[in-house]
Amino acid sequence: MANNQFYVPESVLVIVAHPDDIEFSCSGTVARWVKHGAKAVYVLVTSGDVGIAERGMTKHRAMEIRETEQRAAAHVCGVEEVVFLREPDGMVQATLDLRKKLVREIRRYRPEVVITSDPTVLWAGSGYINHPDHRAVALAAVDAIFPAAGQPNLFEELEAEGLQAHKPRKVYVNSWGDAEVYINIEETIDLKIAALREHKSQMRDWDPEPMVREWAAERGKGKEMPYAESYRVVTLESDEDWAKWKGLVVGRNEVTPSPGED
Ligand SMILES: [Zn+2]
Repeated sequence: MANNQFYVPESVLVIVAHPDDIEFSCSGTVARWVKHGAKAVYVLVTSGDVGIAERGMTKHRAMEIRETEQRAAAHVCGVEEVVFLREPDGMVQATLDLRKKLVREIRRYRPEVVITSDPTVLWAGSGYINHPDHRAVALAAVDAIFPAAGQPNLFEELEAEGLQAHKPRKVYVNSWGDAEVYINIEETIDLKIAALREHKSQMRDWDPEPMVREWAAERGKGKEMPYAESYRVVTLESDEDWAKWKGLVVGRNEVTPSPGED
């Protein structure tokens, strides 16, 4: 697909567990969408408060440091709105309470696309166990997106906050291998690397650039993309329903950009 037909949602909400999760996974896509006019908001379920192993470091101080780093990383990619739910790092569970908190943010920001992690990933290769917070947040996010956020009579008490039901159009799940959609991030890989570098407490003396380029090049292989990020994409609202939902009366082609392939 030609560059000028690249799908750009009007708005995207990204839901992850920790500061730096977005930068490691989907920030190249977000930066590209933002460059092309999308409005993006990040929702961080924790503030990574146990993620700085330093003598004398308190959870509160670590939270402050990591929130500052996350805001700076978001800014690099053109994202100015970052929501921190401040659940305790390392102890997240996919409870109804967390589902409701995420429904609240979905109803508040009313995104066209939600990006989140894959709740089914437990192992990756032979040397990695996926963090329990990643799995819990991903599951709570998927359950919040569908069907909860779009059901007016579920969590109806949120109406008192002026929040109405909202059905996102598509869910992009960060893929670990069974991707269906590849986004060309050639024009934003430098931003992705710069954003990752903002997480100074995590990078320390390590330069993420070679690894980020290698991963992104690997994903782009065979797709005619020098660098890519990859997703499983679930379309929850048909083009017709999306137009109806948005109150649009437009020709099919005006509301039917194909999934985010380049
Ligand atoms: Zn993480």
